[in-house]
Amino acid sequence: MNLSKSLYTKGIQCPKALWLKKYKPSVLIPPDEQAQAIFETGNIVGDLACQLFLDGKEVPYTTNYDEMISTTKEWIEVGVSNIYEATFNYEGILIMVDILKIEDDGVSIYEVKSSTEVKDIYLHDVSIQYYVLQNLGYSIKSASVVHINNEYVRGESLELDKLFKIVDVTSEIQSLQSNISIILKEFETYLEDKVNEPDIDIGSHCNKPYECDAKNYCWKVQRQIPDYSIFNIFNLGSKKQVELYNQGIIDIEDIPEDFDMTANQKQAVENYKSKVSYIDKENINAFLENLTYPIYHLDFETYQQAIPEYKGIRPFEQIPFQYSLHIEYEDGTLINKEYLSEDSIDNRYELAQKLCEDIPNDVTVLAYNMSFEKGVIKRLANLFPNLSTHLLAINENMQDLMIPFQKKWYVTPSKQGSYSIKYVLPALVPEFEKAYKELAGVQNGSQAMNAFANLSKLNEEEKQKMRTSLLEYCKLDTLAMVKILDVLKNL
Ligand code: SF4
Repeated sequence: MNLSKSLYTKGIQCPKALWLKKYKPSVLIPPDEQAQAIFETGNIVGDLACQLFLDGKEVPYTTNYDEMISTTKEWIEVGVSNIYEATFNYEGILIMVDILKIEDDGVSIYEVKSSTEVKDIYLHDVSIQYYVLQNLGYSIKSASVVHINNEYVRGESLELDKLFKIVDVTSEIQSLQSNISIILKEFETYLEDKVNEPDIDIGSHCNKPYECDAKNYCWKVQRQIPDYSIFNIFNLGSKKQVELYNQGIIDIEDIPEDFDMTANQKQAVENYKSKVSYIDKENINAFLENLTYPIYHLDFETYQQAIPEYKGIRPFEQIPFQYSLHIEYEDGTLINKEYLSEDSIDNRYELAQKLCEDIPNDVTVLAYNMSFEKGVIKRLANLFPNLSTHLLAINENMQDLMIPFQKKWYVTPSKQGSYSIKYVLPALVPEFEKAYKELAGVQNGSQAMNAFANLSKLNEEEKQKMRTSLLEYCKLDTLAMVKILDVLKNL
């Protein structure tokens, strides 16, 4: 059997996913931009973690794995103390250990992850490395996961020993060992049959720990799960979805009256079945009366750095780089203001200063899901004491446009029980869905995040084009809020 450690963990999630990857890869959805960015971050974090283990050498990558294996062997024999990408093969199971520390009394395995915690799937990842090394006769002193410490706040310089956490998982790995040969046997049985796919049904394992790249094939092509089904009921939870699915229920129409659901879930189902919107005008009017003109519709775009590049930033902190503001006057006049940082520099002060210039400290500020905007502003206020009073006043004056939808004062069937703007906007202002699709380059928040993070890699012409796309996108976000408010006002 030929198996890499990533195929092993794929098989742990679902043996059918492993089979498809080996024998029917054409049905798999290739990684999108976001997955690619996560992969690249993983590489950068992996390289940096090697610096925790000095005096090491990296085995050069080649598709000739035998060469990587013999280089590893040679370096162990000559006494290299740390080997990065140390490569081994035991009975067809190929592993590359991120960092292998070699001492006289044995070796230690270090698996580097760009996440902020040890996830269960990582234990399987390390356990197969442990299995291979043990069967090759190595004495293993310990096995650890090296991950990012999200409590670390960067000072003037980056302190690697604080940025990373090393978690010893030896005992967990040892307890998984006895099962590995059974798992491998099971994989082998599935893989021996190259024609028939494993008969494994869809379920919660399709999304956990990762969204499976065969979902389109298994769900849509094979099981004909419609675009809107029991799997879309907001917040129903995979356990209950699977319970319904196992009873042969896929269409929301077919959910039994007495099926155990929360009030919100029941309302979403009822609403969908009856195809009627529910509107609580009294509460919506009370919400609207609280808004004084002019209304400042605000939206931030942020990005994250796994490895903080600037002082005062934590790993994966939301760093604001852009905002759009639509100022709406009572007579309907709209004025747009915006800010977009230069790339590759820490422009948070400039952004905060411009925000204070653009938003007076005594006006109604409206955001959709304001906890996000408030969090960004609060961090800026902590960082820049001279702007803090004004910034905190903006936060004090902020109101949340999400409230009428979150509190279920306005429910439409097409919102699918969700109050996320992703569902609310097309339900209330359908033409905006098209407007987003027509935007060049940047059409959603994660694309904006990636676009900004990669601006420095573009030539001047491409950069200006992308900056225009970012401005257009963010502007549409606040214009969308104006339109949603319009709908509420006209009910
Ligand atoms: S979509 Fe689900 S059933 Fe299909 S291969 Fe992936 S995890 Fe397995």
